Amino acid sequence: MSSHDAEVRRRDAADPLAPARARFRIPDGRIYLDGNSLGALPAEAGARMTAAIEREWGDGLVASWNDAGWYELPLALGDRVGGLVGAAAGQVAVCDTTTLNLFKALHAALGLRPERRVVVMEEADFPANLYIAEGVLGSAGRPLERRLVPRGEDPAGALDETVAVLALSHVNYRGGARHDLEALTRAAHQAGALAVWDLCHSAGALPVELDAAGADFAVGCTYKYLNGGPGAPAWIYAARRHLADARQPLTGWMGHGAPFEFEPGYRPDPGIRRFLCGTPHILSMRAAEAGLATFEGVSMREVEAKAASLTSLFIERVEDLAGADAPPLVSPRAPERRGAQVSFAHDDGYAVVQAMIRRGVVGDFRAPDVMRFGFAPLYLTHSDAARAAEVLVECLDPAVWRDPRHARHATVT
Ligand SMILES: *Cc1c(COP(=O)(O)O)cnc(C)c1O
Repeated sequence: MSSHDAEVRRRDAADPLAPARARFRIPDGRIYLDGNSLGALPAEAGARMTAAIEREWGDGLVASWNDAGWYELPLALGDRVGGLVGAAAGQVAVCDTTTLNLFKALHAALGLRPERRVVVMEEADFPANLYIAEGVLGSAGRPLERRLVPRGEDPAGALDETVAVLALSHVNYRGGARHDLEALTRAAHQAGALAVWDLCHSAGALPVELDAAGADFAVGCTYKYLNGGPGAPAWIYAARRHLADARQPLTGWMGHGAPFEFEPGYRPDPGIRRFLCGTPHILSMRAAEAGLATFEGVSMREVEAKAASLTSLFIERVEDLAGADAPPLVSPRAPERRGAQVSFAHDDGYAVVQAMIRRGVVGDFRAPDVMRFGFAPLYLTHSDAARAAEVLVECLDPAVWRDPRHARHATVT
């Protein structure tokens, strides 16, 4: 046995999060490095959803809106998400999708800076965010401009007195580079702008302190590191100081101050409920609740430390084993500058990742050339990371990846 293996065993034995793995159902023989796309299945999710179907829907019927807490669920789950992203109660709602919530948050932020016209975003941001920002600009009812920060440049450099909103992803979806949320929020405020954060790749992977950082708005999904299941509803945060004045354009009845008064005119709820639109997705929310329960008693500082340890080990092993043939590392080398993921560049990355999947190691590929590996700290071990590195290096051999079965691109990559 090599000294390497002893190191892996030592790190796994000392892992305070090791017991959390039992909260998930991971298929035997699979090393799942795609929890940054769809989190693994919480062992309890099936029972919770079955109970919601049989008891709440089946037996309780419509009374469950009151008796089973359905009506309160978006805010109750919102507070639990808030606990993981440093938001005190009453500022987070679970609802809709990340894309829709970003639409609402950008509109609300722009409405609070009516005299300014620029939204700063990054060219390298997840395209969904750039696309929906175009929709915001087209529907704001005033001339606005999207200023894109070129790849590799500091977003703070794009701030000036014309900027209404700085809207950034905390951790980049592709390379996993992490921004300094607090410093950039401060820079936005110094320029008189508001800061809107997308935490899709941070919530559940890293500690985030929205209140302490003074963030204005934030959004994120629950189906990545929060393990909420496919299509689980997203969440939105609005800082308490903005709640009274923030207006979002999807003025649906669930955001009304008194939806069951059935008044003819819209008046928003005074609190975070104003960010809801229509009827909440109760069954999906029960799965999301099971996902949030996987974090019970878990320290986000320990999650961050384990993410750093897993990702560093993976990088080290890939580079050691592959030597001069190691693919270029896309992610930042310093663990405090990246999220819980590692990306390597490879022109035939799609085929390499497919070959790995055939060997039980599930990562994904982001066009044009990024092989992406997410290390969800709750259910992965250091021995998984070490084994995944061996499999990646095996699959770098063209004799392995150059197989027609690996070349066929599926619709969802
Ligand atoms: C995953 C992700 C989304 C997903 O948005 P949906 O509305 O759920 O499709 C949005 N933004 C970022 C940065 C993401 O990583």
